Amino acid sequence: MRIVLLGAPGCGKGTQAKLMAEKYRVPQISSGELLRQAVSEKTDLGKRVESIMASGELVSDDIATDAVTERLRSNESKRGFVLDGFPRTIPQAQQLDTRLGWMNRPLQLALYFSLDPAVVVKRALGRLECAKCGASYNRYFSPPAKRGICEHCGSKELVQRPDDHQHAVRARLDAYDRDTVPLITYFKAQHKLRTVEGEGDIQDIFKRICEIVDTEIRPLETKVIAIETGREYRSDAVTLISGGKVVRKDSRADNDKAVGQAKQRLSARDSKKAAEKKVAKKKVVKKKAAEKKVAKKKVVKKKAAEKKVAKKKVVKKKAAEKKVAKKKVVKKKAAKEKAVKTKVVVRKSATKKRTHKG
Ligand code: AMP
Repeated sequence: MRIVLLGAPGCGKGTQAKLMAEKYRVPQISSGELLRQAVSEKTDLGKRVESIMASGELVSDDIATDAVTERLRSNESKRGFVLDGFPRTIPQAQQLDTRLGWMNRPLQLALYFSLDPAVVVKRALGRLECAKCGASYNRYFSPPAKRGICEHCGSKELVQRPDDHQHAVRARLDAYDRDTVPLITYFKAQHKLRTVEGEGDIQDIFKRICEIVDTEIRPLETKVIAIETGREYRSDAVTLISGGKVVRKDSRADNDKAVGQAKQRLSARDSKKAAEKKVAKKKVVKKKAAEKKVAKKKVVKKKAAEKKVAKKKVVKKKAAEKKVAKKKVVKKKAAKEKAVKTKVVVRKSATKKRTHKG
């Protein structure tokens, strides 16, 4: 499913994009969200666009296009995407068509949310967002059950975006009228425009969107699967193609059966791939844990060896010091004994001399 959502700021695109992404298992690519992320991460791009966004003006076409292109090219967008807030100008729409053309994945639908301008202003001014989990509410139309508390994560940080203040809202609505409204004609000319009534309960609007997607896009996807398996719809008959040549014409029932089988094969292939990915991830985790264990053991062993060497050194030093001290004591004692002995000898010889004279 490759779809863009068009509509005035506050028309509910973001809320519906989230629901669609969840139901159809495709990423929601929101240019506004990507730019806000750059601002909060204070990247170079974020610094460049921060004041423009806060004023409610549009950032340049190149910046907006580059911001979404990487996500469009990513693997997660292979099954499709819901583009929310992009394109917002004719040059952006042209760039999008060109880039999707390069990827061989053209846009399938542009869903336009029609809404009374008075409601649009109230919606934009009443918008609240959970600073923690990103859940959106509206002060006037869809407030949280408990005032000021997020129903999803319990956070008390329900905040108004800087560009949802009155003068910025005015600027955003002006930019919408001037630059984005012409896209309605652009997509109409491509026969891709579908309009959905943007007023009412969120779930009712979502139901209307699902009806459009399920009748307009899903059959197209079935057709793609049929072509992948070598079959192609031609009104009620189905042509079987092999090596570029028509080899058989099947009934519609046969084709539906083949498409069902192809779907099963594709889903089995997806599950197999997912299982392989899981096993590979487990292996990497296991290998890393083993490497960490070995590295830890090495460190412990090295530290123990160093401790042992240091201990040995201390013991050796102490023994040497003890030996030296002992030697000193012995030497001192011997010197003392010698001195005493000499004294006795001298005294004896003096006494002898005196007795001779006498
Ligand atoms: P949004 O969350 O879609 O309302 O976008 C918030 C702000 O981001 C806009 O007011 C613009 O300043 C900027 N922005 C988002 N998407 C685009 C775009 N496709 N082209 C230009 N500016 C954009």
